[in-house]
Amino acid sequence: MKIVLQNLTKRFPNRNRKEKGDVIAVNDFDFEIPDGKLVGLLGPSGCGKSTLLFMICGLQRPSEGKIFFGEDEVTNVPPENRGVGVVFQNYALYPHLTVKQNIIFPLQNLKGADKLTKAEMEEKALEAARLVQIENLMDRKPNELSGGQQQRVAIARALVKRPRVLLLDEPLSNLDARLRLQTREEIRRIQRETGITTVFVTHDQEEAMSICDVIVVMKEGVLQQIGRPQEVYDNPVNLFVAKFLGTPPINIFDGVVKENKLFIGEEAVLEAPGVSEGEVVVGIRPEGFVLKEDGPMSCNLSGVEVMGRDISVVSTHPCAQNANVRSIINAENKVDTEKDRVRFALKPGKVLLFGKEKGERLL
Ligand code: ADP
Ligand code: MG
Repeated sequence: MKIVLQNLTKRFPNRNRKEKGDVIAVNDFDFEIPDGKLVGLLGPSGCGKSTLLFMICGLQRPSEGKIFFGEDEVTNVPPENRGVGVVFQNYALYPHLTVKQNIIFPLQNLKGADKLTKAEMEEKALEAARLVQIENLMDRKPNELSGGQQQRVAIARALVKRPRVLLLDEPLSNLDARLRLQTREEIRRIQRETGITTVFVTHDQEEAMSICDVIVVMKEGVLQQIGRPQEVYDNPVNLFVAKFLGTPPINIFDGVVKENKLFIGEEAVLEAPGVSEGEVVVGIRPEGFVLKEDGPMSCNLSGVEVMGRDISVVSTHPCAQNANVRSIINAENKVDTEKDRVRFALKPGKVLLFGKEKGERLL
């Protein structure tokens, strides 16, 4: 089921008397979430992710605009009639009910032709439990489960009615690092197995990049970019998106373009044919540096961090906005840490230029 958002806006009254006007949590969103995909809604805390998710599920009414599921407009349809399954950040399980009763809960208020017998409900609950691999925990109470298991119960409960759309609001944020990794793979698997259009909210770019088919990057209620994770990483539309995606983060420098060359400090580090002259912001991905003794760019070497397959060369540069410049180099390369300078050549595709004032991408 594709989800279409048309000029979707949500304003909240501003409670801060010093500031005038409303808070625009979601500002004029106009895009389509493709059918059957896992879509990551990504942005820093407070950028409007939950608000958007709550409008899609019907818990919040838009101030303006429309929402369609496929061809059906659902803008004014109450949540229980939209065919959505929702998993909240805090799971929101009923503590006094068993796992089975928690999963069955959404089936109990089905009315009329949809009404199920007890046996049918149990069958459906078991099916959902199998999907998330908790069928052996059905008689436990939530407080007898680990965080990861509780999360699975919440997902099973969201899936039990076979929703048209599955909505997950920061579902991994209460899990420890190892479990996060494992559970995100699970979410990917469940989404593939069911084929349900799934919107996955997270502030963690790595999480979104690793499992989502499509990512939607937001900032302060405004859509920045939509695309496949690799596409957005390689071709960010602005400095915000470039900085938000990638670990270690992109290295940012003050630069100048003149005579078809890009200068960082005194050094002409790259050819820049056709770029208009003037000051620019330069982003260099960590994998964009190549160790080279007579390379055009030099940095002050601070040290080397071993990462196994790769090493991270840590250095500083007077024109860098980051405290440390990080370059990721294959571990087969040797860096002489006795030296206080290190020289690089740059991979042109990994060097991105942005406008100095507005941070827009320059091509
Ligand atoms: P995110 O989920 O990305 O962290 P939210 O959607 O929760 O962001 O919030 C977006 C903005 O809207 C924030 O500035 C937040 O303070 C504001 N906001 C969210 N819900 C309400 C509300 N019920 N009343 C007033 N302001 C709200
Ligand atoms: Mg939120």
